[in-house]
Amino acid sequence: MARLGAQGVPAFLVGAELVIGFDKNRLSSLLFDRVVECPKCRAKLRLPSEKGTLRVTCSRCGDRFETST
Ligand SMILES: [Zn+2]
Repeated sequence: MARLGAQGVPAFLVGAELVIGFDKNRLSSLLFDRVVECPKCRAKLRLPSEKGTLRVTCSRCGDRFETST
């Protein structure tokens, strides 16, 4: 944790995301949102879960694709 720059307590490491302090909304979105991979550039995109089929625009390469959540 210290190596990652976490100085406050508590700190949570959820996947690759570091959350410092007990930020309940941020933690629940990290835990419950769906992560999809862009089929073109393989960027990881975070989407809300349980929203049916979503049209997604990749924030890295701008590719558009549909995915079900
Ligand atoms: Zn992409």
